[in-house]
Amino acid sequence: MLVVGVVIASLLPTLFTSTAPASAAAQGGTDAAASGTTVTITVRLDLCCSSDDFGYEASHAAFEQYITKAQDAWNDALAKLPYKRCYSIHAAFMFHLLRDGQDYEAGYHHIHFNWDFPGRTASFDPGTQDPTEDTTTAYKQGLNGNYYPRDLSVRDWEHEIGHLMGLGDDYVEVHGHAVAHSGRPEDTLMAFGSRIDKVLADRLGDLVARSGVKLPQCWSGAIHSTSSAELPGFPDTNCHETWDTTFAVAVDPNGDVIGTGNGTRVAVGCVNPRYAQGEATYQVFRIKGRFDGRDFTLTFAQTATDGGTAGLFNYALFIPPQPVLKASVTSPGMARGTTPVSRQLANRSIVTANHDVSMTCENSC
Ligand SMILES: [Zn+2]
Repeated sequence: MLVVGVVIASLLPTLFTSTAPASAAAQGGTDAAASGTTVTITVRLDLCCSSDDFGYEASHAAFEQYITKAQDAWNDALAKLPYKRCYSIHAAFMFHLLRDGQDYEAGYHHIHFNWDFPGRTASFDPGTQDPTEDTTTAYKQGLNGNYYPRDLSVRDWEHEIGHLMGLGDDYVEVHGHAVAHSGRPEDTLMAFGSRIDKVLADRLGDLVARSGVKLPQCWSGAIHSTSSAELPGFPDTNCHETWDTTFAVAVDPNGDVIGTGNGTRVAVGCVNPRYAQGEATYQVFRIKGRFDGRDFTLTFAQTATDGGTAGLFNYALFIPPQPVLKASVTSPGMARGTTPVSRQLANRSIVTANHDVSMTCENSC
């Protein structure tokens, strides 16, 4: 639940007397930062207050469990919902459990909790009159919340911290009945359910951008690779593989490129099928490179594979010295290139591959 605008002061005068000094107002309880294609939203909660030592430990353990589970649920969902097909949004929830008499800290949201009674948990956004509106208030100041943890499920923590990341409610009260707001499904997290959908992930990304974070230039890419091996004198060991991979890279203002991707083997053929056994069919990799505004130069380093043996594709892309793949801008926001790779391995077999790279700018170009 989100309570907005002028309502707050009259509802919760006691919270206002205990907030941090005005000088801390410029520092939000939530902030966001971009590093490569990863955008991290950090939410800091001051939970007030616990009175005795036994209650402190038990409360701390309970809060930790709920908040960690809420964070994991957000991250599990966001991992599958890249913003603008390029940026991975990551959520980090931190809290301090304050002791009686301890002041709220600058840069934290001010969450007053009550374990003893049931009640309706709410977060308060003074930056809008509309509880369904997404706002960046949480990124500029600590918000006040009034939580009743006895009544809060993990889903409820996810919902409330969703408000602390700037999301408005996806429901409205109509004649005393809560209904989903403006076409939003009822089963999503900011309405009545627990589903974190693409719309919520995109709204979070928009909030990050609105909060003033400069998102780096981001390109998505695809590589279609065909590889083959020749072992001179042993024609029955020849194999060929076809791989399709996707990736995303960020370009920083200096032209440094960093990103991640994964690839899947889509076809394999060997003169003698036993040579295809145990070879990799899936790869996860990290990308580094440069972009000068015209040409990308990219190198790929494997971070995970499912293969017991490296596979021909790996030799053509991942094993040092790694080949450099090139793609050049062909029209605004589009780049293409084909890189042939040929190398002789220790067993004298010769690996050859063609990597067709196509890239599309998704944001900030
Ligand atoms: Zn709400």
